[in-house]
Amino acid sequence: MVKYIFVTGGVLSSVGKGVVTSSIGKMLQERGFSVTVIKIDPYVNVDAGTMNPYIHGEVFVTEDGGETDLDLGWYERFLDLNLNKENNITTGSIYQSVIDKERRGDFLGRCVQIVPHITDEIKYRIRSVAEKSGVDVVLTECGGTVGDIEGLPFLEAIRQMRIEEGFDNTLYVHVALVPILDVTGEMKTKPLQHSVNELRRIGIQPDIIVARCSKMIDAEAVRKIALFGTIPKEAVFCSYNVPTIYLVPQKLDEQGMGDYICRRLKLRGKKPSWKTWNAFVESLLNPKYEIKVALVGKYAGLSDSYVSMNEALRHAGAKCGVKVTIDYIEAEVFEESPGDIESLKNYDGIFVPYGFGPRGSEGKIMAINYARTHDIPFLGICFGFQLAVVEFARNICGLKGANSTELDPDTPHPVIDLMPEQRNVKYKGATMRLGGHEIVIKEGTLAYKLYNSRRIVERHRHRWEVNPKYWKVLEDNGLVFSGSSPDGRRKEILELPDKYFFFASQFHGEFKSRPGKPDPEYYGFVKSCLDRKLGKPRPEL
Ligand code: GLN
Repeated sequence: MVKYIFVTGGVLSSVGKGVVTSSIGKMLQERGFSVTVIKIDPYVNVDAGTMNPYIHGEVFVTEDGGETDLDLGWYERFLDLNLNKENNITTGSIYQSVIDKERRGDFLGRCVQIVPHITDEIKYRIRSVAEKSGVDVVLTECGGTVGDIEGLPFLEAIRQMRIEEGFDNTLYVHVALVPILDVTGEMKTKPLQHSVNELRRIGIQPDIIVARCSKMIDAEAVRKIALFGTIPKEAVFCSYNVPTIYLVPQKLDEQGMGDYICRRLKLRGKKPSWKTWNAFVESLLNPKYEIKVALVGKYAGLSDSYVSMNEALRHAGAKCGVKVTIDYIEAEVFEESPGDIESLKNYDGIFVPYGFGPRGSEGKIMAINYARTHDIPFLGICFGFQLAVVEFARNICGLKGANSTELDPDTPHPVIDLMPEQRNVKYKGATMRLGGHEIVIKEGTLAYKLYNSRRIVERHRHRWEVNPKYWKVLEDNGLVFSGSSPDGRRKEILELPDKYFFFASQFHGEFKSRPGKPDPEYYGFVKSCLDRKLGKPRPEL
C-alpha cells in the first residue's frame, strides 16, 4: 500500500517547505524506501513556463520537457530522481482538464463544481503519479501558505485523502516560521499556532510540525507548539539555519524525524548510513581553494533565477575541493559604462547563463569577448552559447552586425535564427524545444574528454539555434562544433581548442547536475578556473 505525506506551509511563503520535503524524501531513501515528489502550485498558470524568472525564480525543465517550479529541481538534486511534468500540478492544469472534460460532455449534464469535480481531479492526479511511479511513498508539497484562497481546493482534496487512504497511510507535515524577536531574543510561536488553527479550520490536523527558525528552538517553544498544535512533543522538529541546505536532512534526522515518520506510517526500513551524502557535504564544507566566477546575466538581482546553475557550480566545486563564489553582474552595466568590463579581470571564470530578449545582450557579448581575448575560462549556457556564436561571427569572421534574430530581426547576418518549426508558433506555453534530446559528440574534442561518451542526453529550452547557413564560415575560422543533434540538423556544443577553456552548449547541463555527480560541462569549467588560478598550463580533465 502506497503511503502519502503532505507538506503544508504556514505564516509566510518561502519558509523552506521545499527543502523540508526533499529532506523527508532523503530520510526515507536512506532507510531503503523509494519515493517520488509532487509539487502543487496553486497559481492559475498551466505551468511555470510563461512566468518571469525575475519574479518567480528559475523555470526547472524536466527530462520529459515539463516547464516546472524550481522546487522540482531541489527534489531531483536531493533525491537523485528524474521527475516528470505530472509531478507539478497547478490550478491552471487542473481546471484545464476539468473544463476539457466538461466541453466533451463527460459530466453528462451535471453541474460541474469545485467540490467534487476539481477536488476529484486533484486526487486523481496525485494517485496517478503514485501508480505510474510505483514508489513506496509519495510526497506532496502544497505551495503557498495555508489560508490562501487559491490553495483551498488542494487542501480539501488532501483532507479527503486521509479518509479514503486511511490513517496509517497518510501523514500531514506542517512547516511554519518561528521568528525570534530582535530585542528580547524570544522565539515567538504565536504565528505558527495561528497557521495550525487555519489548517484545522479546513479540517486537517497536522501529525508533525516543523518550526522554521534561525536557531534550534528551545524547550519552551517545543512545549507550546506541541500543546497548541495538539501533537506530542516528539512530533515537533526544527529546521534551523545551517551552513548549507544539504545539511538539513541530517539535522532533521538527528532530531528523530525519520524514525518518527516511519513509526507513524508503519514503515519498517533499514538503518540510515548517510555515508555518501555526508561525503558530499564534507567536501562542500571543507574546500581547499576558492575561485570567483562572474555570472553575467539579466536577472542578476534574484539568485533564485539561476538556482540550478548555482547548484551545478557548487556540485562541481565540491568535486574539485574548491569554494565557488559567484558574483551576479547585470550585463547592462557594461553597456552603460564600457570601461567597467575591465572588472572582469578579477575573476577566475566568466559564465553567461540562459536568457531571453535584447536587454543586456550586448553587455553579455562584451563579457564573452573579454573572456575570449583574455583567455579567461568561459562557460555559456543556451543564450550564452548563442551569444558566443554572435561574438565569434562579428569579431573573428568579420560578419559586421551579426546577431540573433531574437535580438535584431533585421540583422544582415542572422547567425542565430528561429528554428524552422518555431516560425508559426503562436502560443507561448510549452512550445519551445523542451526537455531531453540526444546529442552526438565528436571524438578528439574537449567535449568528448568531458563526457567520455559519443552520445549523451541533455535538457533543452529554446526557440533559436545556430543558423546552418553560417556553420561553414564559423568552422572555417576555427570554431569547433563538438556536439550536434543525431540528425545533424542542429549544433549543440561549441568550443575553441586554442583557448584555456572556452565551452558553450545549447542545452542546460545544470538540470542534471547532482550532489556528488556534477555535470561534466560545469565540472570542466570549475576545474579550469582552478587550474588556471594555480598556474597550471592546461586543464587536466
Ligand atoms: N532566448 C533563447 C532561445 O529561445 C535562449 C533560451 C535560453 O537561454 N533558455 O533560443
